Amino acid sequence: MNDSKPNKCWRCLGELKLDQEVQIQVREGDDVGFVTVRADVCEQCGERLLHPGMSARLLKGQSILRHEHSSIPAIGRVYNLHVV
Ligand SMILES: [Zn+2]
Repeated sequence: MNDSKPNKCWRCLGELKLDQEVQIQVREGDDVGFVTVRADVCEQCGERLLHPGMSARLLKGQSILRHEHSSIPAIGRVYNLHVV
């Protein structure tokens, strides 16, 4: 079903850059994590078409964030800046 790779974005018909490594942000409450996935990325609108199995990787990342985040070193902080 997913064997043939479309070279055009389904949304804007822009060119897709195939098989890119992209970081997707996952959230669990106030905690934020990044998961690196493979995806085809539209050069025009930025739409990311995740490769098969990548959404499972995101769910796994969210589960790690929920249950095991204390064993992972943080790479930054998150601030609520209250900008008005
Ligand atoms: Zn597009």
